[in-house]
Amino acid sequence: MKSCLAAILLAIVPVAAPVRAADPAPHRGTTLRVGLWTLWHDKEITVSPTPGTKASLRLCEACPAVSLAKSEQIHANGDRLKLTSGSQAQTVSLAGAITLAAHGESLTLHTPLRISARNGELILTVTLPVEMYVERVVASESGPADSAESLKALAIVVRSFALHQQHGHAEYDLCDSTHCQLLHWGSLGSRRAAAHAATLATAGETLWYHGQRAAAWFHQNCGGRTASPDEVWAGAANRGPMPWLASRADPYCTTGGAREWSASLSFADLTAVLAGAGLARPGWETLTVSRRGGSGRAAMLLIGASEVNAEEFRLAVGRAMGWGKILSNWFEVTRQGDQFIFHGRGSGHGVGLCQAGAAEMAEKGREAGQILAQYFPGAGAVDETTGLAWQTVRGQDFVLETLTAKDAGFLPQMNQALAEAEERSGLRVEGTFTVRAFRSTEAFREGTLVPGWVAAFTEENWVGTQPLATLRARKLLGPVLRHEFLHVLVERQAGANAPLWLREGLVESWAGGTTSRRAPPGLKLEQAEAWLADAASEAESEAAHEVAGWYAGRLLERFGRAQVLVWLRDGVPATALATIR
Ligand SMILES: [Zn+2]
Ligand SMILES: [Zn+2]
Ligand SMILES: [Zn+2]
Repeated sequence: MKSCLAAILLAIVPVAAPVRAADPAPHRGTTLRVGLWTLWHDKEITVSPTPGTKASLRLCEACPAVSLAKSEQIHANGDRLKLTSGSQAQTVSLAGAITLAAHGESLTLHTPLRISARNGELILTVTLPVEMYVERVVASESGPADSAESLKALAIVVRSFALHQQHGHAEYDLCDSTHCQLLHWGSLGSRRAAAHAATLATAGETLWYHGQRAAAWFHQNCGGRTASPDEVWAGAANRGPMPWLASRADPYCTTGGAREWSASLSFADLTAVLAGAGLARPGWETLTVSRRGGSGRAAMLLIGASEVNAEEFRLAVGRAMGWGKILSNWFEVTRQGDQFIFHGRGSGHGVGLCQAGAAEMAEKGREAGQILAQYFPGAGAVDETTGLAWQTVRGQDFVLETLTAKDAGFLPQMNQALAEAEERSGLRVEGTFTVRAFRSTEAFREGTLVPGWVAAFTEENWVGTQPLATLRARKLLGPVLRHEFLHVLVERQAGANAPLWLREGLVESWAGGTTSRRAPPGLKLEQAEAWLADAASEAESEAAHEVAGWYAGRLLERFGRAQVLVWLRDGVPATALATIR
């Protein structure tokens, strides 16, 4: 899957963080503190600098940062840390590219890590931008049945869960296990690209209900009817009514028949699980459902003489015996000799978005907004900071997404920019693409994780821009849009072997910007390619664009448009490049 990050370079200076909406939100700020390897209970960890990069270490919050030149082993010693170098510390903070090793696993992080200890166990806390967190969770929690629209709905739910609720951890906002939302730290493999697209397409969007931030959950499969929170979680009623989470029939996840399961647990195993979790003392003989919730799920169990919350029972069995036994609380239970036989339907707690149903809705052509309306009736996705809904305005072959109705006034200029891009390249848009105009430079940076000096960028059929009014005020609206629309056209033609410099260079060349110089540039094409993929500064990016434009312009002059378009698909032969070097 191609993914071109194409920036036009302008000195758009990042502005200070805007004043947040007055409506109280549990989470403020643009990063999340996420517990790393929380199920491992590591007692020691090795931290190493990643070769060829810089990493630093601080031995207290106010201490000066020192370069991490070699590996350090860090042990938990009660509530303090002991380092192999002999130092002791309450906390160790690391920044830069660090490689971590513990419990036979290793991981390279590029985000800040804080290490502390409690009761002889390490507490590892990673600070992640919100959107990076969402992308990783969507990749970790999604399944093979998901497609673009179900992933967008999931991204909005994941973001809402992270930002709108407290999760009961003292040292961080969220853990990386299913207690909160599962997050894989290593390579995300084949799921990464789709999770990235879904996260970007919904950047900053969360679930709201009538002007209030709404709590949101998701689960694998509701079995045909979702659960309301109060039938699953003791104490949910204390949070006040959550009408958008009312139990609802789900005709989608049952399209091919409801998911059913059964499990057999021995009396001895159950006795051990219940005693270990402090739910029932040995000596019990009977296990029955004593109360069911509105959806039919077991809410309370009677185990011997003890009333036990069914969700606590399910979690206790899961922790002790694995999560594949009692898949949901929607079960019947009978005793046969020494065995308790459970027959149930669905998988997971059943509250909120049903992933199986969402995938099926997407398969049937429903959009993310319709999926959210099915699982969160009355609620919808809006911009987390302002509470405003994204509006869509149709242009020529594109949809403009904006929070500002005034942006519709820019449509004539946008249509003109697209017409110019088509005319200059000789390419035509087939189908439609999306232009998402952010409301501020800050929102653009937080939503896309792209630096503030970038005016706009394109990934496949999606263009993200700084505020259109800002671009217009700098007389850049036409050039920036023309440039990005050329990217949309070029990306559709580009094959897997097309180098970034050719994709960027054709855009530069057709946009008619920086390619007037006749002498070959000093910068090597290989260096330009690397900087196009990952520029450390505006200057590097600018230099790389210029080189790319020069080479693409020469290829067009010498070999003609038709031939260069073939190379855009198949890759450029070295012999052709040699003639213009
Ligand atoms: Zn570009
Ligand atoms: Zn958690
Ligand atoms: Zn369902």
